[in-house]
Parts: sequence; structure tokens; C-alpha cells
Amino acid sequence: MPQPRTVLVTGGNRGIGKAIAEAFVAGGDDVVVTSRSGSGGPEGATVVACDVTDTASVDAAFAAAEEKFGRPVEVVVANAGITHDTLLMRMTDDDFDAVVETNLTGAFRCARRATKGMIRLKRGRIIFVSSVVGLMGAPGQANYGASKAGLVGLARSITRELGKRSITANVVAPGFIDTDMTRELPEEQRKAYVDSVPAGRMAEAAEVAQVVHFIASDAASYISGAVIPVDGGLGMGH
Ligand code: NDP
Repeated sequence: MPQPRTVLVTGGNRGIGKAIAEAFVAGGDDVVVTSRSGSGGPEGATVVACDVTDTASVDAAFAAAEEKFGRPVEVVVANAGITHDTLLMRMTDDDFDAVVETNLTGAFRCARRATKGMIRLKRGRIIFVSSVVGLMGAPGQANYGASKAGLVGLARSITRELGKRSITANVVAPGFIDTDMTRELPEEQRKAYVDSVPAGRMAEAAEVAQVVHFIASDAASYISGAVIPVDGGLGMGH
């Protein structure tokens, strides 16, 4: 039985992040999930309070994970994300900044902190949860689409910087997943989205989680700088 890895999933208290954390717990890893409240997450995971818009908070969450399990974080899943949808002409600087700050800069903070331990470990997996919208765009989501596209450049730059150290950085790009984020949409809009998906349905969060789990596995050791869609064909591979 291999030694459990220390895995940290941001926003692992609910939705896609919780399903990702569940997959790593089921695989026998030591899992820390973060949430802003410091509660929630699946059974078997340790919950730590963390706001990804705050560098000190991110650094403290990693320190807590390392202290709890006695090893550096080997797998980080930057999953925490928000939307502030509105048409471009109405989008305020704050609408734009808040989404980029959480979705992109927050992911950068996590990757930067994770890298310290991964270099010592001489291995690591950095996984960014992006969106089909990062590559296809969507009306009303200029802020969200820009933040999610930024994750691709981030992963690819990390790949070039740290590839020789057995650290991979990849992007998983979900399509339309049944979580709080999509449950907030008006029923008509949800139906229109589902109709546009070749698979003809939304996905369960677990369907994203299994792909993230694979990207973090030894079997995926030669995949880096990739964008892996989990979207029922919506983006057609982008
Ligand atoms: P949810 O709205 O269900 O959950 C969002 C998670 O992000 C929560 O755990 C939330 O924590 C956390 N979060 C938000 N802001 C912060 C912050 N500042 N600091 C720390 N944590 C924060 O979303 P989903 O599960 O649907 O989405 C997860 C990821 O997947 C997001 O990045 C999203 O953009 C992406 N995605 C989702 C799709 C979907 O269809 N659902 C499609 C494509 C991508 P808290 O509970 O504290 O608010």
C-alpha cells in the first residue's frame, strides 16, 4: 500500500470541490478541504478555514495541512470559484476584480504556496478547476471567462517552469454541473444550457471528481499543461 499523499482542495466543503475531496478520501489519501467558514466537507477529510483572496489565509491553510499530516501538500486542487454575471456594459470594476481575485489570483496563491513543498518532495500535482466558459466564452460572463482562461496560461507557465521536477500543472474544464452555482440560475436558462450540451444532461460533481483524481494519479505522470474538458461534448475539445 503506497503512503497516503497530502491533498488540499480549496472550496471542498460543497459542490464539485466536495466530490473531488471524496474521491481522494476514497483513494486513501490524507485530505484537507478549505471553506471560508471552516466547516463542511466530506467525511474523512479535515476542514480548514481559508479565503483564497487572502495570501496569509492561504499560507496558513497549507501550514495547517502540513502540520496535521507531517508531509508537504503533494496534490493541490484549486477549485474555489465564484460568478458575478452581468452584461459587459453594466459590469463594474468591482464585479470584474472580485471574480478574477477569487478564481485566478486565488488559484495562483495556492499554486505558489504548494510549490515550496512540492520542490522538496520532488513531485507534485497542481490542478486548476476552470470552465468550458474560459475557452468558449459566454454572454454575461466576461469576468468569469477571463478568470478561467487565465488558469490555462498559469498551468502552462508552471509546466514550463517546474516540469523537470516531476510537478505537473493541468486544467480541468467542466461544462454544466449540478451544484449550488448552477441551481441559482433561472429554470429557463438551465433548460437552454442543457439543450446545448451534446450529452443532453448536466453532470454530477462526481463525474468531474473522477477526472481530477486521475490527473493526480501516477497514471497521469506525463500529462502537463493540458486542458481536460468534462463537458458532455459542449466545447468539442475546445
Ligand atoms: P459552488 O458555488 O457550489 O461552490 C463554490 C466553492 O468555492 C465553495 O466551496 C466556496 O466556499 C468556495 N469559495 C468561493 N469563494 C471563495 C473564497 N474567496 N475563498 C475560498 N473559497 C471560496 O460551486 P461549484 O462547486 O459549482 O464550482 C466549483 C468550481 O467549479 C468553481 O471554480 C467553478 O467556477 C467551477 N465550475 C463549475 C461549473 C458548474 O457547472 N457548477 C462549471 C464549470 C466550472 P464557501 O462555501 O465558503 O462559499
